[in-house]
Amino acid sequence: MIQNPKEAVLHSKTVDFVSKDHQLFIDGMWSESNTNQKLQVENPANEEVICAISVASPGDVERAVQSARRCFKSTWGSKFNPAERSKLLLKLADLMERDKQVLMEIESLDNGKPLSKAQYDVESAINHFLYYAGWATKITGDTLPVGNQHIALTVREPLGVVGLIVPWNFPLMIAVWKLAPALACGNCCILKPAEQTSLSALYLADLIHEAGFPPGSVNVLTGPGLPTGQAISDHQDIDKISFTGSTAVGKKIMQSAAQSNLKNVSLELGGKSPNIIFDDADLAKVKSSLIWTSFYNSGQECTLGSRLYIQRGVYEELISHLQKEAESLSIGSGLSDPDLGPLISRAQMETVLGYIEDGKQSGARLVFGGRKRQMESGRGYFLEPTLFEYEDDSIKIVQEEIFGPVVAATVFDTLDEVVEKANNSKYALAAGIWTSDISKAIRISKQIDAGNVWVNGYDLFDPCVPFGGFKQSGMGKEIGKSAIELYTLEKSIWFSA
Ligand code: NAP
Ligand code: MG
Repeated sequence: MIQNPKEAVLHSKTVDFVSKDHQLFIDGMWSESNTNQKLQVENPANEEVICAISVASPGDVERAVQSARRCFKSTWGSKFNPAERSKLLLKLADLMERDKQVLMEIESLDNGKPLSKAQYDVESAINHFLYYAGWATKITGDTLPVGNQHIALTVREPLGVVGLIVPWNFPLMIAVWKLAPALACGNCCILKPAEQTSLSALYLADLIHEAGFPPGSVNVLTGPGLPTGQAISDHQDIDKISFTGSTAVGKKIMQSAAQSNLKNVSLELGGKSPNIIFDDADLAKVKSSLIWTSFYNSGQECTLGSRLYIQRGVYEELISHLQKEAESLSIGSGLSDPDLGPLISRAQMETVLGYIEDGKQSGARLVFGGRKRQMESGRGYFLEPTLFEYEDDSIKIVQEEIFGPVVAATVFDTLDEVVEKANNSKYALAAGIWTSDISKAIRISKQIDAGNVWVNGYDLFDPCVPFGGFKQSGMGKEIGKSAIELYTLEKSIWFSA
């Protein structure tokens, strides 16, 4: 890990952490995988190996499930006082606050994201622990009006052992979106980070241990989808999988659930979100956010406005504004805090370049970008922010999730026309609408197929607001009160006079 002088000087805890190889966190302890298999961790900004992580085998998954089940039956689960759960979650949030800089640096090194963007992720993760610490003592059911001879009520109980499988684009934040509510509700967790970005979850395991969570309440198993993820989703004694990742793998998770123990499943999947700008929008506001609604996290974000619909009267003005901004963005290693960092891997970069080539072949017009950005070192997976204009809605770059800095833009005239175009997608994760006309905003936000709609803003998130997609973008809503429903079972109890 040779550092560039323009980059931040790393915290000594970061240096210690990334200078060693890592094991699996099972039953509150670090242990080697049964097979001793290792995976190298690469810094995508310079292609250097940082350290190695362990590959959890089906046997390791079994050990973790047994530990989680033991913990659920004895110390955690319904037996643990909710106020104690709340205290532990608050303690963990405090420890994360103490080590915020370290977590940011680890995330930036491992994923490539700019330090200030990593800061947002870490702060969001802390806020989710604080929010769900409050929920732990407030999970209630209902009393129901069943007449004079009976009393009926519902109680919400934890599911038991839950598998949490997360992607590489927001490694810590998405892990915590799942861990915080799952723990607040009393479940024991098996967390599997993505193979490319496991380090922040492993650091979090150290903090979980330091906070004093009971052994088995959280296990962290690193390793690829095959064998590790698959062994989790196939397991007969895991009660639920909460998965965030691609639609293709989401479908496999459902198959595994159906073929094993019919475990409960919730899914946050891919997106191809329409960002719709009307002539009457507050253009200053649109201009200040368009670059980020298009290219944040180098386009590796499920909610980004990767389909851009602009009404004819402001089309030219906004496209040339976006081009100017895109061409002035700084691109570099996350540790030097540029606007955009690298893509996660060579494979992802090649996939995105393949889509760019496909866009050109299928008749779309390349307006800007489209190339690999060469760094002085000749290393790293950097791409230019890229925009295509198109007319044919059926082409790949309009229909498929690219997951890189590539936006497909087109012009529209009427509200009905843009709703039809925007809804012509298998995805329905998010949508942005920009207009000063409140009745237009109400009409379109009701007609659009999307689990999350932002009017005159974009990518707004808060621990209290549910998030999740419709159609092939997912099943079930995370965050907010909705996550309490995701991580509990509702039991109905009748009493007769
Ligand atoms: P991915 O390839 O689907 O992988 C997601 C996770 O599933 C990883 O931990 C992966 O392990 C694991 N996995 C792979 N195959 C598996 C299997 N057969 N059984 C169990 N687990 C398996 O997704 P990604 O490339 O990491 O992330 C990008 C995708 O995530 C995009 O489609 C994006 O839209 C989606 N995403 C959605 C949201 C949302 O909230 N809707 C948020 C962020 C990202 P390995 O990677 O270690 O092999
Ligand atoms: Mg990495």
